[in-house]
Amino acid sequence: MPPHPDPLAWIAEELAALDAHDLRRRLRTYRGPQAARLEIDDRVLVNFGSNDYLGLAADRRLSEAVAHATEQDGWGSGASPLVVGHGQRHQRLEERLAEFEGTEAALLFSSGYVANVGAVTALIGPGDAVYSDALNHASLVDGCRLSRAAIHVYRHNDAGHLKLLLSESRGFRRRLIVTDSVFSMDGDLAPLAELAELAERFHSMLLVDEAHATGVFGAHGRGLAESLCVDERIDVRVGTLSKALGCAGGFVTGSRALVDWLVNKARPYVFSTAAPQAACAAALAALDIVRDEPERRETLLARAADLRAALAGQGWQTGTTASQIIPIIVGEPARALAISTALAERGYWLPAIRPPSVPAGQARLRIGLSFSHSEEQLEGLVRALGQLASWD
Ligand SMILES: *Cc1c(COP(=O)(O)O)cnc(C)c1O
Repeated sequence: MPPHPDPLAWIAEELAALDAHDLRRRLRTYRGPQAARLEIDDRVLVNFGSNDYLGLAADRRLSEAVAHATEQDGWGSGASPLVVGHGQRHQRLEERLAEFEGTEAALLFSSGYVANVGAVTALIGPGDAVYSDALNHASLVDGCRLSRAAIHVYRHNDAGHLKLLLSESRGFRRRLIVTDSVFSMDGDLAPLAELAELAERFHSMLLVDEAHATGVFGAHGRGLAESLCVDERIDVRVGTLSKALGCAGGFVTGSRALVDWLVNKARPYVFSTAAPQAACAAALAALDIVRDEPERRETLLARAADLRAALAGQGWQTGTTASQIIPIIVGEPARALAISTALAERGYWLPAIRPPSVPAGQARLRIGLSFSHSEEQLEGLVRALGQLASWD
């Protein structure tokens, strides 16, 4: 008998090919709390890689809320929500999220990723059409693909192109426009007022993913839709608890009917175990902080504007960012990796973001600014980047 060939042998070859193109990703393990200074691979670095925008991930008020809730209710939630997994704390958090967002109702998902997949696939199917920004987050892209609706991709933030696609494609049962509000790898902002206008004019539903804006933008921290005064014109708003709020989980807010429909039809909601109740306690504590400490988001956005100006002054390509996410676009993956390594040697952790997370030729370093970064750490980063600005 000849030896049976390993049916997974192709994987080693594919990984080697990724390596050869500087596209292989590797896990790094951090120790200790998720904070502005992080121990990664035995080095303590100033951390610009996280989405912990308000500095809440390691806030003691959150961990104390979790400890208290776990003491009372234990840890596991035991079942999917419709079976017997929907607890009092889930209910309370959903009510609180609806209040926070100023909507009739809210629904919790175990992550922002599945909130998007669940919402999109529940809203449209075969015979429907979806209109998706070219730079939307992978979770929206995957929701569109899984829905089996006809997918129309419009040029990034180009409402004119969207209008053309909407007027050229008729005869669908339902239509849905989907967009990030703050884009995750570019930090730029969707033209939500124009999108709302087009949705109304073309009788389309509009879904906006506020993952990077929840807690950061808007007078109450609801997101970009609040700061642009268009929140009431957006039918479906998605947010995440996992970024600025420092927790884990995602949510959808909107009308009561929308939420009742998702409870019935959003497959990641129906077929997945509910998040631990104690996680809801942490999110409730985080929402209290967002309400009581608006200076966190105000300071963050003011510092982000200063940092954007400083980097542009050094000649870095920062694209059209207008948020706490600041890309430094350098082109090829090898260059992004080299700069990331040089910054780590100087004490700063900025991840190199490469295709397929960004388009080919647009590899970059991504700065995720946090309220928890000190002025000194920001000055240090600018100095280190200044030393590398003339590199080639
Ligand atoms: C991170 C992210 C998500 C997913 O949220 P998780 O809670 O991390 O699963 C969804 N949309 C966008 C735009 C994101 O950046």
